[in-house]
Amino acid sequence: MHAVALKRGASAPEVIDKPRPDPDSGEVLVRTLRVGIDGTDYEVIAGHHGGFPADDDHLVLGHEAVGVVVDPNDTAFKEGDVVVPTVRRPLPDGPTEYFERGEPDMAPPEDVVERGITGGHGFMSDYFTSPAEFLLPIPDDLAEWGFLVEPISIAEKAVEHAYASRSAFDWRPESALVLGNGSLGLLTLAMLGQSFERTYCLGRRDRPDPTIDIIEELGATYVDSRETPVSEIPDAYESMDFIFEATGYPKHAFESIEALAPNGVAALLGVPDSWPFEIDGGKLHRELVMHNKALVGSVNSGYRHFEAATETLSSLPDWLLDDLVTGIYDTSNLADAFADDETTIKAAVKFYDHEER
Ligand code: NAP
Ligand code: BGC
Ligand code: ZN
Repeated sequence: MHAVALKRGASAPEVIDKPRPDPDSGEVLVRTLRVGIDGTDYEVIAGHHGGFPADDDHLVLGHEAVGVVVDPNDTAFKEGDVVVPTVRRPLPDGPTEYFERGEPDMAPPEDVVERGITGGHGFMSDYFTSPAEFLLPIPDDLAEWGFLVEPISIAEKAVEHAYASRSAFDWRPESALVLGNGSLGLLTLAMLGQSFERTYCLGRRDRPDPTIDIIEELGATYVDSRETPVSEIPDAYESMDFIFEATGYPKHAFESIEALAPNGVAALLGVPDSWPFEIDGGKLHRELVMHNKALVGSVNSGYRHFEAATETLSSLPDWLLDDLVTGIYDTSNLADAFADDETTIKAAVKFYDHEER
């Protein structure tokens, strides 16, 4: 079968041939429909994040997948079920405590494999296998867009944790700011628009730009970080009850403290490299304490976040999905699929059309 893989030492993915995997007991064989690409894939390709399976000279990419069950094997799935895989798996002979609790997203990252990212092959191949408990069935009519369930689940988890941090009092948030106009930022903005009265999204692009069009079509306000640094947003716009950081730009983590309203919370999602810089630690510490503010880091997502994400995906308008997904590419066109340019918002690699069945 074909797989899209990064070879050790390479700076771009390529198509390789691999044997089709056989499902072990408890595993399902899935025929892949589509696999999305996000900022993490670019970080993996650049060698800034993730890692190869120990015994292999390559990593099959892809952690945002949707596929169709072709061999349910000895599991409760049926042939033809449309499924989305979760990302984390236990390390061979590693600890399983967090998996047993159903919370692998809360495990220390060094104790897990992340398929397509760290230590385990991903889903960018004609077929993949997965233990049944790591597959979420989704409605057939979501087959086309099911690769968006994983990234939406990331937002679901971060929002859940941020809200949990504010659950000890009568929090009444009205304003939300998303930092970053990449695919994660825009999907989150669409989600937050369903519950917040006023939403904002920060980028660093000139008009005309397809992400600014989406921001405004969603009824949100575009904030240009080149004109308005995050710490100046309260003066230029308003203080924010909730901030969702999806730029991976580490100064934003600290500038967010100043942009938050009293009692507000910022969820941090970016996974930056080391970058020493100066901050006024005393001022920020005081601000967090005196205004009851919170910063919450959030990585990965659990099964219930995938379930919530499936609901959210069904609620998103067709125009948004059409505008956000800027390209669906065959494996013969990897250069376009992985073109990280300003006309690309979300791209996916297509292996099989659901309608072809
Ligand atoms: P992405 O496509 O690279 O999006 C990042 C966006 O932030 C880009 O549109 C970029 O703008 C914008 N940006 C970066 N620095 C900025 C600045 N200083 N001012 C304004 N805008 C800025 O990545 P993504 O897939 O949406 O993911 C976003 C981040 O979340 C990444 O860091 C990724 O690693 C992380 N992530 C974390 C998790 C988790 O579980 N914690 C899950 C998924 C992703 P330009 O395009 O104009 O440069
Ligand atoms: C993935 C998560 C993963 C995180 C850190 C994200 O892009 O969506 O599943 O935990 O990267 O590797
Ligand atoms: Zn991701």
